[in-house]
Amino acid sequence: MSVVGERLQPTIFELSRPGRGGGKIPHPPANALDRIPAAARRAEAPALPELSEPEVVRHYVNLSALNYSVDSGFYPLGSCTMKFNPKLNEWAARLPGFAGLHPMAPDETAQGTLAMLHELEAILAEVSGMDAVTLQPAAGAHGELTGILMIRAYHRSRGDVERTEVLVPDSSHGTNPATASMAGFKTITIPSAPDGGVDLAAFTAALGPKTAAIMITNPSTVGLFEARIGELLEATHAAGALAYMDGANLNAILGRFRPGAAGFDVMHFNTHKTFSTPHGGGGPGSGPVGVRPNLVPFLPSPRVVREDDGSFRLEREGERPSSIGRVRSFFGSTGVLVRAYAYLRAHGAAGLCEVSDDAVLAANYLKARLAPVYEVPFERACMHEFVASAADLKRRTGVRTLDIAKRLIDKGYHPPTIYFPHTVEEGMLIEPTETESIETLDAFADALIEIFHEAETDPELVTAAPHVAPVRRLDEATAARQPNLRWRGMTGAQTPCPD
Ligand SMILES: *Cc1c(COP(=O)(O)O)cnc(C)c1O
Repeated sequence: MSVVGERLQPTIFELSRPGRGGGKIPHPPANALDRIPAAARRAEAPALPELSEPEVVRHYVNLSALNYSVDSGFYPLGSCTMKFNPKLNEWAARLPGFAGLHPMAPDETAQGTLAMLHELEAILAEVSGMDAVTLQPAAGAHGELTGILMIRAYHRSRGDVERTEVLVPDSSHGTNPATASMAGFKTITIPSAPDGGVDLAAFTAALGPKTAAIMITNPSTVGLFEARIGELLEATHAAGALAYMDGANLNAILGRFRPGAAGFDVMHFNTHKTFSTPHGGGGPGSGPVGVRPNLVPFLPSPRVVREDDGSFRLEREGERPSSIGRVRSFFGSTGVLVRAYAYLRAHGAAGLCEVSDDAVLAANYLKARLAPVYEVPFERACMHEFVASAADLKRRTGVRTLDIAKRLIDKGYHPPTIYFPHTVEEGMLIEPTETESIETLDAFADALIEIFHEAETDPELVTAAPHVAPVRRLDEATAARQPNLRWRGMTGAQTPCPD
């Protein structure tokens, strides 16, 4: 076995036995090899594992059972919106007309997909109060980069080339400063005020003729609606800068706050968070970007154009020279966009308001259940997520937030986000989402409260957790710095990779 642990199993290479196979697949014709040019043929057969069909099926089914997922349990991962993904979306994404469309198909044969994309753009524009939307970016972080590149193009188009700075609050997601740097800007970090919002005085002091943009996450990464949003936006525009909204937390404000109408110039959506799509394992996402009229000329190309006769086509090369160009191959993560479209159409306007209302209610309920035990640094009603802290518990017992997270695994839960945002000591960012029942929320609160009492009476029980997981604590620093991502089999005198 490559990794120890009673529920782990050998790799598929270790299970392999020479000559074993399914044997049910018709053999290729005798002259199949002749059809492949000699130069393109392998000299030796590849060292593929050889197993019977039931062995393969069991191997992968058992491996998949080691995964924790939204379909198997509660997933309170703050900042990620791990909501249940309706199976209807999967049906829609697999419809042959969508799934089987070749990405280079001519516009005439892609009318259905183009119409869906065009309509999705319009729905997202309505939800956000923006004027136009691009569906190209592959994820939220990519949407940020797309938005900031449009802001850069806007300032340049006006000959305003002295704007080299982007203001970012200290609680922001790491992708915000990374985006600003990638687009060639200098990031200026703005401290938070004690109430968790942006410190207005520090913000206005940093704002000036060098400011290209501000990037604000609203609701913020501590789960609070940015109370001074009006002042922040007014000051930004008065300084000639543009306002970018990180829309990753849109799940809290659907139908209640429209960023474009409020004065934001550009924002991204994480459709895989707000509008469902299984995510978390690094699978494809989608990060559409909405813009106000001032940025429309710079939208990535090609856009979907609706002709007067009602047909659709993609913009032609060079048709809109002001565009920042293409940011993604073909037309984005179309399968993810079909899921978002299905989700939006299934819910409708009233349903989307309900999504947010329920998400906010669930978070406030959990917060109220935990507040008598854990510290809750921000008392104000939260949005769809909230921060709890174990700072005092750590001082008294030595049990840290990391230990609580590991102990939650023993109790059958995926831990919440921990140590983010960095502005809260021993923080846990908890996001229940709207798709959980009150029984689930209560059981999770009970588990967290139980761990709190365990920490007080038997701290070693918590610091040694997890006790029942397939693997114990991993050396995360080594795993991050020297990742061992490749299994090497025993060939000849070679020994297997020792680690
Ligand atoms: C998830 C998230 C991002 C990044 O989005 P991806 O789709 O993961 O690239 C950016 N900002 C915030 C606040 C987020 O929660």
